[in-house]
Parts: sequence; C-alpha cells; structure tokens
Amino acid sequence: MPRQLIAGNWKMNGLSVPGTRLAGALREAVATAPPPCDLLVCPPFTLVGRLAHVLLGSGVAVGGQDCHAEAAGAHTGDVSAPMLRDAGATAVILGHSERRAGHGETDGQVRAKAAAALAAGLAPIICVGETLAEREAGRQEAVVAAQLAGSLPDGFAVAGAVAYEPVWAIGTGKTPTEAEIAAMHAMIRRTLAARFGAAGAGVRILYGGSVKPSNAKAILALPEVGGALVGGASLVAEDFLAIAAAARA
Ligand code: PEP
Repeated sequence: MPRQLIAGNWKMNGLSVPGTRLAGALREAVATAPPPCDLLVCPPFTLVGRLAHVLLGSGVAVGGQDCHAEAAGAHTGDVSAPMLRDAGATAVILGHSERRAGHGETDGQVRAKAAAALAAGLAPIICVGETLAEREAGRQEAVVAAQLAGSLPDGFAVAGAVAYEPVWAIGTGKTPTEAEIAAMHAMIRRTLAARFGAAGAGVRILYGGSVKPSNAKAILALPEVGGALVGGASLVAEDFLAIAAAARA
C-alpha cells in the first residue's frame, strides 16, 4: 500500500500573509522532522501559485479544491484543471459535500471534473459521504456506493483517491465509531476492486470529518484507511503536523 496521505482542505480561508506563514511553518517542520506520510495542502485558488512556490522541494504538495470540467472557455469565475496544474498543483479535491450542497454538484459533474483533472495530470480526490438522515435510515452504504458509481471516471485508479466524509461529521466535532469507519472503508475497497480490479487495491481511501490530533492515531490505524482529509485542523500548523505524525509508518 502507498504511504498514508494527510490532506488539508483550507476551504475559503487564507489571505496571503497568514497563508504563506502557515505554509512556511509546514515547510520548516517537515524539514526538521519528516512525517511518516505524504502531505498535501489545498488552499483557495488565490493561494495555489504562491504556496506551490513556498513549498517547492519541501515534500508538501499543493492542490485545488475544485476545477471545471473543461480546459478553457466562457466560464466566468471558474478555474480549469490545466490552470491548477500550471499554478503548481498536483491534486484537486472534487465533489466535497459543501460543493454538492452549496453548488448543486451532481455525481455526473464530479465525474467529468475528475476526468479533466486526470487529463491535466492532477490527482483527483473524490469526496463521498452520507447525511445524518441517510445514516439514521441505514442507507449510508447504498448512498456512498451510488456516489462512487456515479462520480469515479474510467482510469480513476491510476492516480485518484477517495475521501469518505460523512456530511454530519464535517466541522461538527462528531465522528463515526471506529467500527463504522472500518465498515465503510471496507465497502469502498470492495467497490474499487470490483470496478478497477488490481489497480483498485492501490487507491487511497481517506477518512474526513472532524479529524483532530486527539483522534487521528485511532482513525489512521484502522484497516483500509489510507489517510485523512482534514478541514479545520489543517489551519493550525501544530494540529495538522500532529495529525501527520500520527500516520501509520
Ligand atoms: C472537510 O472539510 O473536508 C473536513 C473534513 O472538515 P473538518 O475536518 O473541519 O471536519
């Protein structure tokens, strides 16, 4: 299995001075104490180029939080996958629940964006996850299986990762039990194997939703957990680094 990936989703946070300071702190820390995992930070579009410059050669990769499905054209306000790549990104988060809910993104749109990301040389990190109502109705596996079927393009297993993020765990301080995380990750692994064969075994399945230094070790030790997608805690260098240090060596 590849090393675990700890990815920070800065969401719509970060102006140039504090954002650069945070990236600089990560750069210094990993130079002193390299973590036992791969690290990725996904700032807002406005900081992708700047952070790619600050983190060049540090081992900390930079990613986007969304991209358009087309490479260029009349799409005011959008950013394409080749633009992200050109700015120094190597990955992109796609289908985050905040975009599915706030921008009405469908599985089909996420799949098209992921195909565009792959074509541009970016690793798509595709987010899936059920709402609280869906879990309470016992439908979580069916919901996530449908999202996987609809959102993952052909060829995804070459470079992509899946992030299982229960919507009700994002930014709430609540997390599923370890058994619930393990069960969902096992289902996702079976789904990837059925769709992509041997290549599906190498796809990292991240867990996301209120990962903190206090719970990271237990979550990252679970079978089939290939890393974490971290929101709030990725905005504090010490917290993000403590989560990275808890990765499985
Ligand atoms: C996220 O936004 O992807 C996320 C997991 O957020 P948080 O860690 O704050 O729950």
